[in-house]
Amino acid sequence: MKETNGNDVFMNTYHRLPAVFSKGNGVRLTDTGGKTYLDFTSGIAVSCLGHGHPALVEAISSQAAKLIHTSNYFQSDTALAFAEKLIEACGAAGLRKVFLGNSGAEANEGACKIARKYSLLKHGPGRHRIVTLKGSFHGRTITTLAATGQDKFHKDFGPFTEGFVYIPSGDIGALDRALDSSVCGLLIEPIQGESGIRPQDEGYLREAARLCAERDILLMFDEIQSGVGRTGTFLACEAYGIQPDIVTLAKGLAGGVPVGAVLGGGKTADVFGNGDHGSTFGGNPLAAAAGLAVLGIVDDPAFLADITRKGNVIVETVRSWSHPKVRDVRGRGLMTGIDIDADAWPVLEAALSKGLLLLSAGPQTLRLLPPYIITDAEIQEGLEIIRSVLDAL
Ligand SMILES: *Cc1c(COP(=O)(O)O)cnc(C)c1O
Repeated sequence: MKETNGNDVFMNTYHRLPAVFSKGNGVRLTDTGGKTYLDFTSGIAVSCLGHGHPALVEAISSQAAKLIHTSNYFQSDTALAFAEKLIEACGAAGLRKVFLGNSGAEANEGACKIARKYSLLKHGPGRHRIVTLKGSFHGRTITTLAATGQDKFHKDFGPFTEGFVYIPSGDIGALDRALDSSVCGLLIEPIQGESGIRPQDEGYLREAARLCAERDILLMFDEIQSGVGRTGTFLACEAYGIQPDIVTLAKGLAGGVPVGAVLGGGKTADVFGNGDHGSTFGGNPLAAAAGLAVLGIVDDPAFLADITRKGNVIVETVRSWSHPKVRDVRGRGLMTGIDIDADAWPVLEAALSKGLLLLSAGPQTLRLLPPYIITDAEIQEGLEIIRSVLDAL
């Protein structure tokens, strides 16, 4: 097969690396030429159980043989079981009902709709604004692009959905001023992913939660990247001890099968009424079966503790290099950012040629999102490749 970036058949949306994969096993992917690669990306935090995990394969294939889709006008035993288990997994965050869709952007759209309707019913019109943070990433639809607080995403596609306000993260004064009587919701990634793996300050999030509760503004956590165990707790917000009004999930939730979720608690679980929202594919039995398999493995204290331990191994190993090209390493669990003193893209290319898949997050940050099932030996193998690439810069 010829070397390709796919642009002859796919629209030109991705800066693709030149690799064409045909199979995967565990933390390794194999390209059509037979070369294997260590996967430190999990397909952007999606393939959290790695590739070809037996429990996931068995769940998907047996569900495919039984029932793939019903539409949401009916229930399926598998989707009911998945919803119950997901709510249980999110119990520490005080969430008790879920809406299932297909993607992260769709989940955030649902969250914004709930915030607007909640506020309209309770406080009347004129309170439709949603505050988000600069540097955030919330999706690619017109509304979730509007929610995304980064100018680079806003050129060319306006006009956007009206009513989004951006404030700098970490600035409590700006937060206090922004959360005025025109605002129905505050949407935050507890750890910003796309823009560089930046955990929010705990005091800031606590103050955000306090202000939102005081002003009856919905606190909405976008945990599409940080959720489902990625940071060593089922939701990243558990580590802050904060109970948000809404949480959105997607990426790792079904280990690679598309699914997204909006979870609501006390104020928000019953805001939607009949006909208010929907999704044809959302949470179909196939996706639900995959999600159940993921939750069966990930929602386990010992498994989650090991994610934390492995993440610490990564951070400590990179720190121990004292590498002149490494400016900072940070993260939580298996969500790590390494700021380097060089452009990230050539590092991704060099790592690829040495058999390691890596992502960037911003121009000079390497983003490590390996599958949860990675072994300590595989961690060291991948980190050694990163070190050798940095040495050669
Ligand atoms: C990936 C991501 C999204 C968008 O998810 P899609 O499934 O691509 O629509 C939204 N928010 C965050 C934090 C993400 O990481």
